[in-house]
Amino acid sequence: MFPGIITTDGDKFREECGVLGIYSPGSDIAQLACFGLYALQHRGQESAGIAVSDGRKVRVEKGMGLVSEVFADQSRLARLEGFMGVGHVRYSTMGSSLLVNAQPLVFRYRNGYLAVAHNGNLVNGHELRFDLEAGGSIFQTTTDSELIAHLVARSGETDVEAAVRQAVPVLKGAYTFILMTEDKLLGLRDPYGIRPLSLGKTANGYVLASETCAFDTVGAEFIRDIEPGELVVIDGSGVKSTRVFPNGKQALCIFEFIYFARPDSNLHGRNVHLVRKQLGKRLAIEQPVEADIVTGVPDSSLSAATGVAEQLGLPYEMGFIKNRYIGRTFIQPSQEVRTLGVKLKLNPVRQIVKGKRVIMVDDSIVRGTTSMRIIEMLRNAGAREVHVRISSPPVTSSCFYGIDTSSAGELIGARLDVESIARTIGADSLGYLSHEGMLDSMGLPQDSFCTACFSGSYPVEISSRGKFLFEENKEDDGRCGGCGVHV
Ligand code: SF4
Repeated sequence: MFPGIITTDGDKFREECGVLGIYSPGSDIAQLACFGLYALQHRGQESAGIAVSDGRKVRVEKGMGLVSEVFADQSRLARLEGFMGVGHVRYSTMGSSLLVNAQPLVFRYRNGYLAVAHNGNLVNGHELRFDLEAGGSIFQTTTDSELIAHLVARSGETDVEAAVRQAVPVLKGAYTFILMTEDKLLGLRDPYGIRPLSLGKTANGYVLASETCAFDTVGAEFIRDIEPGELVVIDGSGVKSTRVFPNGKQALCIFEFIYFARPDSNLHGRNVHLVRKQLGKRLAIEQPVEADIVTGVPDSSLSAATGVAEQLGLPYEMGFIKNRYIGRTFIQPSQEVRTLGVKLKLNPVRQIVKGKRVIMVDDSIVRGTTSMRIIEMLRNAGAREVHVRISSPPVTSSCFYGIDTSSAGELIGARLDVESIARTIGADSLGYLSHEGMLDSMGLPQDSFCTACFSGSYPVEISSRGKFLFEENKEDDGRCGGCGVHV
């Protein structure tokens, strides 16, 4: 984060990046990529960038800030002429929130141009970087995108597809890469498919995006999700699919459904809003309570709250109004201002909650600090009782796969039992959805998800050295080294 900024989402898991690739000769690629990035903005708000190829040269424009800020000057888009492009939005860590780490990264090597953007985190990124540096490689950034560029460049293959196939077997972790040469666009998903990537069709070509909501804004139709371990190559002859890794166990990040993804996106054929609503219904069955109204903490919990209300036969009310115009707030992060910061962004509707027994639905509790402030706000607005219901199980473990979580010691679910958490946050009652209830609500095979932050069972093994370096980096800058950023 920029120094001096507080965000009221600080007590949430944070998605790290959104990626987009578009191959569409005859279209205004830069404008389309920009529209696509607007749709993915919720996945990262600290930098944005687009690289475009005209067949001979790859040009890139990127900067710190929201898509609307980085491309406020239309001349930046006008400079990006070509028939295909790569786009990226990024949320980064305090220590690495630098323009140099903004993506896409564009390299020139002996075979020409290579633009790279990615979402996720390599759990062996530190080791790979160390080995490459020992062999003489020099890195300009701290991102995993630069790592894969080095590996591709060193492969000895002149064909980019062959080079990628040779490079990726050493990568361990959760990753979605989009790569672009002068004439080819490539999309790659890790063997477990932890981070999402989908393929769509435009009038003149194809688009790859972290989420399907981007397809609507670029006028594309959904074709299919990219399979775990699949590499797609898009060029003048269409889409070619190959497997870099054999079919294996899938492990899509379940938090995409719970919190990260936009409700109008579909993942594995399931609409995110409808899944969240189902999570709410199951939560109401498992954790019923007598109340007058149900409200959700905007925005990610609203779908689950409607499910709770529908199941309990209670009115769903707009208990909070979210101020959507604050953006990143440049104020000092003192305790007093932090508390005010929540009020700046969320305000209870007094006439709705006054004298009422309120069920407040949220998608997760990470450290508990925001829940505490929101409950206090409801009480100050006159709520008679506040019953908190969480549409996922307690978060007990850190994420090593590119999601910014607190370190394990800061997770309230790892330290306290449910009753103690309820007391700490000031709730009259607290109820979490069960692990089984969460998986049942997905409507997909139960073994197709990563649920490690709830279970501590990690699909991709992490060496003890990798864990050590990860925690050490978090302690260094107060946040994780996510988005594949190694600090
Ligand atoms: Fe997602 Fe949690 Fe797995 Fe990280 S540990 S990928 S946040 S489910």
